[in-house]
Amino acid sequence: MRRLRNVKIVATLGPASSSYSMIRALYEAGADVFRLNMSHGEHEDIQKRHIAIREVEKDVGRPIGILADLQGPKLRVGTFANGSEELEEGQSFRLDLDEAPGDAMRAQLPHREIFEALEKGSSLLVNDGKIRLKVKEHGPDFANCMVMVGGTISDRKGVNVPDVVLPLAALSEKDKRDLEFVCELGVEWLGLSFVQRPEDVHEARELTKGRAALMSKIEKPSAVREFESILEASDAIMVARGDLGVELPVQNLPPIQKRLVRKCRNAAKPVIVATQMLESMVESPIPTRAEVSDVAAAIYEGADAVMLSAESAVGSYPVEAVSTMNNVALEVESDPTYRTVVDATRGGPKQSVADGIVSAAREIAETANIKVICCYSQSGTTALLVARERPHVPIIAMTSQIGTARRLCLSWGLHCVKTPEVDRFKSAVVNSARTSIKEGFAEPQDQLVVTAGVPFGKPGTTNILRVAPCDENLILPADPE
Ligand code: PGA
Ligand code: MN
Repeated sequence: MRRLRNVKIVATLGPASSSYSMIRALYEAGADVFRLNMSHGEHEDIQKRHIAIREVEKDVGRPIGILADLQGPKLRVGTFANGSEELEEGQSFRLDLDEAPGDAMRAQLPHREIFEALEKGSSLLVNDGKIRLKVKEHGPDFANCMVMVGGTISDRKGVNVPDVVLPLAALSEKDKRDLEFVCELGVEWLGLSFVQRPEDVHEARELTKGRAALMSKIEKPSAVREFESILEASDAIMVARGDLGVELPVQNLPPIQKRLVRKCRNAAKPVIVATQMLESMVESPIPTRAEVSDVAAAIYEGADAVMLSAESAVGSYPVEAVSTMNNVALEVESDPTYRTVVDATRGGPKQSVADGIVSAAREIAETANIKVICCYSQSGTTALLVARERPHVPIIAMTSQIGTARRLCLSWGLHCVKTPEVDRFKSAVVNSARTSIKEGFAEPQDQLVVTAGVPFGKPGTTNILRVAPCDENLILPADPE
């Protein structure tokens, strides 16, 4: 099975998409990576979905990536005696640590750290930003607020505090339990919610101990401000427009999205554009024209992946939503304008030998009649660098590590293949030729480019490029010593 597009599709699993047959249908419609959202569902549900994904992977014979998304330090109010209350503009409302059920005048906010970090005039947003409170007066265990925008407040609604860097641990106790659970199940990607600073990523790195790669979700203004250092500390980024659009005015999102996507590509780290991409498809089999444009815009910008949340997790049309993304991607990527944009936004000359090799691989592939670029890579670095070049010809990422093959499923243009381990470049070339033919990327009379880092097994050593005929009986001279 070969995809005919470069951008990848991430589908969140949930009650609407837990069975083997649904997950398989989503894969066949185009989902490359599945997201397990740790904010919902018991460990037992997560485990069942995980087993089903691995079964689909075995049956379709292609690697599939899994992203486990931790809830992070999501703030919530307590419960209400009446379940919910209406807050009116101009009234006062108190938040405190008292466990007593809330009423029209007050509610519990069970996070002591927040009261300490608040300032007079800070905004508190409740229920996806629908209710806006302004702090008038605060102490170590309370905040008296004025209601700036009213609305319905109800049990355990989420709270956002956009103006303040909160002294919260990056991972709650629940996150730590979830992290251990999914790392033991075996996932390629761990999503970190509400990252505020690079130290948050370092903390997660210590706990994962190499068992999963780390994706920072950018959903706080402070994460946008500190983006460079967070990117540096992370293996991938998610532009998490849901919470980011609560914490910042929504009109700020498009330029931020564009900037982040471009920086990630330059850093050769995958970036997902997420949330509300096809929101109306939760209930409708047909997207709005604006949603189609949004998906297209992310692809034109050069994102590695676009994501479905509620659409595939709880919606009525999960398969249609994946197909819609797939169809939009096919159209956009065959538009000559797409090529122009992708070529024009390629970063300038880089510093290292590896940069030179991958840039040459692309140029050679474009000038000669080359059908495919094969990257041999244990850690995946060579493949990520080639993907950053956004070449016109397909890329096969060959690796002996199944974990690497699955992880790279998220990256633009990479067709990932697990192959036997080789100890010399010569065997890598022969394997590449065989794989290119077998997977339908080339014919025996074609040529291919092979790149790798030799000696094998040392990350970051991309240093070799060869143009070879696609002949599987190829007899090559021995590697130069
Ligand atoms: P969430 O993250 O779906 O876990 O909230 C994505 C977002 O906020 O956009
Ligand atoms: Mn979020």
